[in-house]
Amino acid sequence: MALVTTEATILKSYEYSETSKILRLLTRDVGLCSVIAKGARRPKSRFGGLLEPFSDGVATFYAKEGRELHTLSWFELRRERQILGNELLRFAGAGLLTEIVLRFAPAAGDEQLFAQLGHGLDRLVEAKGDVLTAILEETWRLVGRLGFAPSVDRCAVCGEPPAPDQETHFDMVNGGIVCSRCQPQVRGPDLRPLAAEERAELVQLLSAERSELAKVNTARTQRLLLRDFIAYHLADNRPLNSFRFLDGRLG
Ligand SMILES: [Zn+2]
Repeated sequence: MALVTTEATILKSYEYSETSKILRLLTRDVGLCSVIAKGARRPKSRFGGLLEPFSDGVATFYAKEGRELHTLSWFELRRERQILGNELLRFAGAGLLTEIVLRFAPAAGDEQLFAQLGHGLDRLVEAKGDVLTAILEETWRLVGRLGFAPSVDRCAVCGEPPAPDQETHFDMVNGGIVCSRCQPQVRGPDLRPLAAEERAELVQLLSAERSELAKVNTARTQRLLLRDFIAYHLADNRPLNSFRFLDGRLG
């Protein structure tokens, strides 16, 4: 049994028995893990009432070899993000980032992924501009960090960059764009038109720089493309639950 102390973000929190909670964590050092916080639901718990999703802290737990559920000994809260619960769209965005991490993060610790999630959640707390644009940008960054970013600068077939005003298509299978000349060769249900402005905004959303876009004009197209891209490339063609909420709310 090893004692582990690592920075961690709480992704999910479940009530367990009368008195305890089970937490799903993304830790900086040992990746995803589940811990039980015994007694966390008691009024005078040593954990306080602080074990809520989207919070960051330093977790100390006993990791038992061969076990999937470890026993949380202490959680030192560093940053709570309860304010995300006050606004549905910000909350949905945070739910999307954490759902992606829960389902697709690698088993081992990944410092950059951990930092990216923290940055994304902070952005949703602080975003002054359009919240949906912040969600789109931070979700693409997380998907990129997992190694799945699409290629949108050059045609996936001929390799040429399309002219700025040219309409292209987005090919889900290739995970990239196809120019109008090559499009007849590709066809198929996984191809969707992408107008010049939609492509330009997708390029901006995917930009690796720490630019923070104020607002995209083609938000609906971008949201559906992101949803379907994640479903196709990461989730066996099933949209993530978090998108159901966004779709229901935004149409
Ligand atoms: Zn081409």
